[in-house]
Order: sequence, then structure tokens, then C-alpha cells
Amino acid sequence: MYRPTWAEVDLDAIKRNVEQMKVHANGAHIMAVVKANGYGHGDRQVALAALQGGATSIAVACLDEAIPLRSCVKAPILVLGAVDPKFATVAAENDIAVTALDVSWVESVATSSWPKGTPPLRVHLKVDTGMGRLGMKGRGEVLRAIELVQLCAHLEWEGIYTHFATADEEDTDLWIRQQQAFDEILKKIPFAPPLVHTSNSAAGLRMPRRNEAIRFGISMYGLNPSAYVGEHLPFPLHPAMSLHTELAQVKQLQKGDSVSYGATYTADDSQWIGVLPIGYADGWIRALQGFDVLIAGMRVPIVGRICMDQCMIKLPREFPVGERVTLFGKQGQEEILLNEVANYIGTISYEIPCLLSQRVPRIYKRGSERWLENDLFIK
Ligand SMILES: *Cc1c(COP(=O)(O)O)cnc(C)c1O
Repeated sequence: MYRPTWAEVDLDAIKRNVEQMKVHANGAHIMAVVKANGYGHGDRQVALAALQGGATSIAVACLDEAIPLRSCVKAPILVLGAVDPKFATVAAENDIAVTALDVSWVESVATSSWPKGTPPLRVHLKVDTGMGRLGMKGRGEVLRAIELVQLCAHLEWEGIYTHFATADEEDTDLWIRQQQAFDEILKKIPFAPPLVHTSNSAAGLRMPRRNEAIRFGISMYGLNPSAYVGEHLPFPLHPAMSLHTELAQVKQLQKGDSVSYGATYTADDSQWIGVLPIGYADGWIRALQGFDVLIAGMRVPIVGRICMDQCMIKLPREFPVGERVTLFGKQGQEEILLNEVANYIGTISYEIPCLLSQRVPRIYKRGSERWLENDLFIK
């Protein structure tokens, strides 16, 4: 690490969030959702911390995310997204469960050739009860898919699930209708598979369903699924990630001097400006111009356009080069939450850590230990 810009990921926070969710949901099976490189936090480290906190399985979005994880976790892994039937044997060989998204998908896998010695493929049937995304619609299709799975020697029925579109909103109308539609289908199934799961973070926080696993994503990272859910949390969430850099240069501007491309900011008096070695190529996007950062426990604004690798902040006084600047996270009594960053640019908290690019090293923290993703201990 030669550039002082880094994201810190507190693995104790992840572990605590999982532990608390498990208690809240009466010991429910927790599936740690680590798709998109653990929502930008690092999938491997997050998966291990979640398992330590009591999670019992892992979920990702695609087979490409699942395979590298397989070499470091023994727990069951489920792919939530679509896997091309032609890669079904690859999933099976790697002991990865996949989503059966409709009858033709099941037919295609059931009729594909299965080389001798390849273990059966574990599948979770996905039911679309109103999300309008992946999944089979209606009882007829679900029953047909179950029949095909059970007739096929190389398919093993492990789970059934659905996904809610509005569990994070105050209006519960669609959420309740989706649950009713799913329950209707469950009732018609002669026997349920080992795993039934419907809830994401929002649903699990608000109303965990009996005897079901929870697909725990955003709130495992300590973030609110929405402002509404954030106001009604059953237990406090601990944000895992914070983002930091250090002043690379400090300079005094005179009245009339401007800052950055387009000269969108002009000093109206003599003032101090700090240059930060972080920009939109790191995921600190241009729309964040005008937003605050923390220095010495104070909020100060980003002034002028955010560049690819750098941006500038207005300082209340002179500071030494190397002074720590926090873009989100805590400094003293002040804290910038990811929800606030997201609100400023009109998006949701999920998007901000996902935007952080590979150029930003993730430093992991557990107790007093700190290390980089490659396991090199710093202290
Ligand atoms: C991403 C995802 C989740 C996790 O949702 P959160 O809101 O982050 O808890 C659960 N289920 C499915 C199908 C997903 O794609």
C-alpha cells in the first residue's frame, strides 16, 4: 500500500449483526448473502465472519462468484441468479447449489448427460410471487418442476424460495400478498424440502417467518435496507465499512482562485484547501461534489469537481499533510453513515460500497488485528 486511501472492514461488526439477527429470528438458519464481492466488502472475509457469527450457509449471485468461495468455505453455497443449464455439472462438481428458475430450466438440466462420478446437483426452486424477476409463476409450474426434480436421479431438491419486492416499505400490501401466494403454494406441496426461505434483511428484521431461513444481505453489513426500516430496527446495526484517506497537499487560496475542472468553485476569501488522493475511479463519484467528509472530527465540504484520482476539500484552517480524512465512518463524535452518502446522490446505501473499485484496498479488522485481503498482517 503506497497510497493512503483505504476502506476498513470491521469483521466483528459483521459477526455481531449476524448473531443479533439469529437471536431476533429465534435461531433461524441464516444465509449470508455475499454477492458482488460481499457488497464491496470482500466476499471471502465476510463469509468467514458471518459463519463465525452463526450463519449456516452462503449465497452469491453467479457461479463465477461461488467457485472461488468454495475453496475457502465448507458451508453450503447457493447461487441466487440464473446458471446456464450447460454449466449444471460444473456447479455439481463444485458442490454448489443453484436456482431452478422455471420448468424449462429443470427439463434442460434433467435431460442433460451426467458423467459418471458427478455428484447430484442441489437445487432451490424459485417462485415469482410478485417480484417480477426470476422464478416460476403459479402453483402448476411449481408442482411440475418438483415432479421433474424428483424423477431425476442427478437432481436433489434442497430448497424453495421467493423474494419480496417491497419488504422495506411502510405499505405492506404487496409484501403480504406475496406471502399469501407463497403459502398457498407451500400448502399444495406434498412435503417441503429441507430449506424454505423468503426473507431478505428488511423482511427478516420486521417479521421473521417461522421455520424459515433468512437471506441476510445489507443489514449483515450493518446498513439499513431503507430509511423506514431504519426507524423501526429491532436491534442496533453495526456498520462494518468505513472509508479513509489522508491529505496529500494543503494550500492557501486567495480570493478569486478557483478549484478543479470547470472552475466550478471560486474562493471568496483567503482559505485553506486540502487535496485528497481519492476520486471517481475509486468509486467516489462526481455526483458527491459538495458532500461532506470528516477531518479532526469536523465536517468539511468537497469543493470543485471530483477528478478521476483526486478531489479537494475546504479546510477551516491549515492542517498537516498526512492528516486523516474519513469519507464515511466515524471520527470523534461525528459520523457519516452510508445512508447519508446514498441520500445525497439519490440512491440506496447498497450502491455505495459496490461502487468502491479494486483500487481501494480493503483492510480487515478483528479485535486488535488488522490485515489486508491477501492475509498480510499489518500489526
Ligand atoms: C441480494 C438478495 C438478497 C439480500 O437482500 P438484502 O436486502 O441485501 O438483505 C436476498 N435474496 C435475493 C434473491 C437477493 O438477490
